[in-house]
Amino acid sequence: MFEGKTVIITGASRGIGRAVALNFAQLKANVVINYNSNEPVNLYGEFDRYNYSYTSVKADISIAGDAERLVSHAKQHFGSVDILINNAGITKDSLIMRMPEKDFCDVININLKGTFNTIKYASSIMLKQRSGVIINISSVSGLTGNAGQANYAASKAGVIGLTKSVARELASRNIRCNAIAPGFIDTSMTSPLSSNIKDSLLKSIPLNRFGTVDDVANACIFLAQNNYITGQVISIDGGMYM
Ligand code: NAP
Repeated sequence: MFEGKTVIITGASRGIGRAVALNFAQLKANVVINYNSNEPVNLYGEFDRYNYSYTSVKADISIAGDAERLVSHAKQHFGSVDILINNAGITKDSLIMRMPEKDFCDVININLKGTFNTIKYASSIMLKQRSGVIINISSVSGLTGNAGQANYAASKAGVIGLTKSVARELASRNIRCNAIAPGFIDTSMTSPLSSNIKDSLLKSIPLNRFGTVDDVANACIFLAQNNYITGQVISIDGGMYM
């Protein structure tokens, strides 16, 4: 389905990004795996086992020079940059009164500025190609706000504004940009939450289950394929936000 297409996935070492990378590889895309601190050696093993086409780049997307190197490596290695999935993200939760300024800035720098950085460099290649797909992973927290997540919710709400601006700016060049707002997905980001918090979260999910990484990966594939959707925020949350 994506034969000959190059997809960059930021934060693909684990969790949602890892699943997105594997799903695109299964559909024959050339996959650029980005990580920052944990080299995903077992993921390379999985790619090698099935002979999937991939390369990997260590890059901190919050640093403009790293984001530029990531994108130019993809272009040099595979010849094009067709799909960019901005998935890398962190949380540093605490109540606003106790939140250190550094924790606010770190989360904004990675989740929001990092997304801007990769879009800036990838879109210059996509503009020359006159085609491209950008998918940004936001969050239900960016839609509703969340106590204890002022930094994270602000970053993810910012990602939505960024998505809509990019969609408007680049639509005339056949570049689409959409966001996905996952609800609660079972990954290392959410596993530290206490069972009390998980129980109360479950009560707020009409479909009565937590999401899987493949639920989000499937939405990425749908958005990459459908060429008449741009500027949208798709909730993958079991009905949490409706
Ligand atoms: P995760 O398991 O904690 O994985 C986060 C990924 O981001 C890792 O691959 C990590 O790489 C990478 N990363 C962190 N900082 C980076 C940086 N500066 N540069 C490049 N990569 C960096 O998280 P997840 O649950 O899969 O979440 C993925 C995305 O979905 C995030 O944007 C998150 O906010 C969003 N989301 C998640 C949920 C959920 O319930 N899980 C809900 C809504 C939205 P290293 O391992 O190398 O550090």
